[in-house]
Amino acid sequence: MATPSASPLTPSSPSGLLAVEHDIARACKDARRDRAAVTLIAVSKTFDADDIAPVIGEGQRVFGENRVQEAKGKWPALMAAHSGIALHLIGPLQSNKTKEAVALFDAIHSVDRPSLCEALAKEFARQPRRPELFVQINTGEEPQKAGIAPAEADDFLTQCRDTYGLTISGLMCIPPADEAPAPHFALTAKIAKRNGLVKLSMGMSADFATAIAFGATHVRVGSAIFGTRPKLSLE
Ligand SMILES: *Cc1c(COP(=O)(O)O)cnc(C)c1O
Repeated sequence: MATPSASPLTPSSPSGLLAVEHDIARACKDARRDRAAVTLIAVSKTFDADDIAPVIGEGQRVFGENRVQEAKGKWPALMAAHSGIALHLIGPLQSNKTKEAVALFDAIHSVDRPSLCEALAKEFARQPRRPELFVQINTGEEPQKAGIAPAEADDFLTQCRDTYGLTISGLMCIPPADEAPAPHFALTAKIAKRNGLVKLSMGMSADFATAIAFGATHVRVGSAIFGTRPKLSLE
């Protein structure tokens, strides 16, 4: 029998967080961007507190969820147990969940229609909380996907500001699953630039390095950190 191989001296990461951090650092270097200019949102949708707590333990503090109810069920306890957590809503928001979303989330990436702007403006008049807002752009103009059509983005952004008094920080996109993401990232960056928006929420497990090359300030990474999701949950 061969002697058992020595156990590694460096602590190994139980999740994919370390590998993702490594790839983000390299993508930033390649793009000559500061690592601090890119926020990693660990997308924990479908995973429960037992899966999430170790990733918090590894130092991750920014998390993304796509459903208000699911987030309400698991995050208040996690936030009570761990300081400094920021929660981002990355999935569609129904207007009747606006109150709960504003109370729980630090950012909302899915602003996509005037009725939601109206609901947000009403809620901001009632609650002191001001989650950072991103407008979702449906860059692939996919009928089943949420988001503003690229050609309507400028008008919608003006409406957000002038009609509803909302401060929009940036844009979000989810490229079509079967297309190269780069043109979609480029289009989103272009719309942001001409509207004076500095934040770009784009890039997921398969393409966050490309997104960083195109200026992403927020990458939303789920399966590369937590593993394959138990059930399909991408809107
Ligand atoms: C699920 C989800 C992600 C993360 O997807 P992965 O491929 O698991 O990294 C990112 N953005 C949105 C909007 C999502 O719903």
